[in-house]
Amino acid sequence: MTGDARAVPVPTAVTRPFWDGTKAGELRIQRCDDCAEHVFHPRAHCPACGSSRLGWTAVSGRARLSSYVISDIPAPGFADDVPYVIAIVQLDEGPRMMTNLVNVPPDPEALPLDLPLEVVFAPRGDQVLPLFRPAAEART
Ligand SMILES: [Zn+2]
Repeated sequence: MTGDARAVPVPTAVTRPFWDGTKAGELRIQRCDDCAEHVFHPRAHCPACGSSRLGWTAVSGRARLSSYVISDIPAPGFADDVPYVIAIVQLDEGPRMMTNLVNVPPDPEALPLDLPLEVVFAPRGDQVLPLFRPAAEART
């Protein structure tokens, strides 16, 4: 399967600022103007206080590994090369995000929980995906 056959995200009115951010090389998530909670995934109301006053902010792109699975099953449209790592990472700002890990062996020995990670941006079609790799201090 070629890269052209992979699924490309389609921004909606709610998610467009997120995708505009990845194109600009920034990880942008929502932040509540009323309670200051960082929010991901994009939505209309703050999950902490219910406010609809959610703004957008660029975050650090730093995270820690919360959970992962190493998949040996090709996922047409999403992942061609097996095995690959599907991960849930916890952003330093709080929210968790599902993503793929790159620049790391798909091997539990290389994937300790709480591993420091940093975002990298991977073009796909006319969009750019946020993926994560071990942070500089974790790469030896
Ligand atoms: Zn709030």
